[in-house]
Amino acid sequence: MEERKGRRIIMFPLPFPGHFNPMIELAGIFHHRGFSVTILHTSYNFPDPSRHAHFTLRAITHNKEGEEEDPLSQSEASSMDLIALIRQLKQSYAEPFRQSLAAEVRGGETVCCLVSDAIWGRNTALVAEEIGVRRMVLRTGGASSFCAFAAFPLLRDKGYFPIQDSRLEEPVTELPPLKVKDLPVIKLKEPEELYRVVNDMVEGAKLSSGVIWNTFEDLETFSLMDISSKLQVPCFPIGPFHKHSNDLPPKTKNKEDSETTEWLNKRDPQSVIYASFGSLAAIEEKEFLGIAWGLRNSEQPFLWVVRPGSVRGSEWLESLPFGFIENFGDKGKIVKWANQLEVLAHPAIGAFWTHCGWNSTLESISEGVPMICTPCFSDQHVNARYIVDVWRVGMVLERSKMERKEIEKVIRSVIMENGDGLKERCLELKERANICLSKEGSSSKHLDKLVSHVLSFDSYAFAS
Ligand code: UDP
Repeated sequence: MEERKGRRIIMFPLPFPGHFNPMIELAGIFHHRGFSVTILHTSYNFPDPSRHAHFTLRAITHNKEGEEEDPLSQSEASSMDLIALIRQLKQSYAEPFRQSLAAEVRGGETVCCLVSDAIWGRNTALVAEEIGVRRMVLRTGGASSFCAFAAFPLLRDKGYFPIQDSRLEEPVTELPPLKVKDLPVIKLKEPEELYRVVNDMVEGAKLSSGVIWNTFEDLETFSLMDISSKLQVPCFPIGPFHKHSNDLPPKTKNKEDSETTEWLNKRDPQSVIYASFGSLAAIEEKEFLGIAWGLRNSEQPFLWVVRPGSVRGSEWLESLPFGFIENFGDKGKIVKWANQLEVLAHPAIGAFWTHCGWNSTLESISEGVPMICTPCFSDQHVNARYIVDVWRVGMVLERSKMERKEIEKVIRSVIMENGDGLKERCLELKERANICLSKEGSSSKHLDKLVSHVLSFDSYAFAS
């Protein structure tokens, strides 16, 4: 790796695809602007370094009496819900992170700053301060959902939490256009855990030297203004990250990806429904079967990502009725994972049936693809409300209504009947994203400001 002395950034992503992907895209953007990047990554879910050759990747592990030890094993992690897993990651990696950051900074090469995922929270602020390195935060979700997270203490005071089923359709007057059912919660046995993680994320952002957002000004103008005034730190909405010039190598294609592209190449333009519910959401078997029949009965071609283990109680597809796959023949394709950026950019895609994770939302907007929104938890509910009611580039298909007739109806409405000018609005929003990314656009200008901001930090290097 080439040396770029004095312009090194250390990054600390959360180890899930929805957080790692945008962090690595941001690393590519910084690299393109002349920085070298070191990524400190948990040994849990450690990525394949050969796919990230531009950057130095270091696994942070526990060093116990000279022996390297994983602070958290995959099998321990698999039994936890998401919030318990985040809490465990924060606890287990706190000390290894401190040791790794100190070792990097003492390594002699000047470090400009640390960029840590917002969810790591206040501890990364304390560690960075102790070691003497400035810290920026990357928030991988949208600004609108962050406004809702920042309002948690107020919402608790006003009695919105815990959410009562009888109030789901009520508006949240403090956070228009959200309804009670859109508040970004996760159903947990111990809801206090969620409030703690959220509060730590918001307070950690306030302690930073600035927050980097994977969004664009024209998309979330008011939420960005609101959150900037609440956080009182500089905000840099420079997204969509994946559309910037960056130094990321093109994603390596495996055999399955190539087969998917070949299959898409044979379909009519804007005819295929792409269904994928991200990297974390899990569904019940009944819901899985509803999706399967709904897709088949819609009579549209479909590409469906079913992650192994994402259907509760099944390994993969075994709960599908005998002969189901043979029955739809070449009209549908089920894969374990897709190259989503490439899929969404393919002209054959007519709609994206999504769980409305923020990356998926932004990726769909960037390609002008209409969405069918089935949010599962947390910020996905907020994103879905904005997609459907504010940007008007999607239709909702609630999880509780996912039976085949309703699914067929929504798919037809989006693909065949163009849901009341949906496609035109999607293309308009795609164009607005492109304008923000153009040379004089807001995302490019914020990126220039971000680079100057980071370069203005007093460089810090220990004498080696
Ligand atoms: N993704 C992918 N292939 C898949 C499913 C997801 O490449 O089959 C990527 C997707 O492009 C996105 C990320 O995984 O960048 C998922 O992030 P998102 O915020 O949408 O949802 P999460 O997984 O965090 O719930």
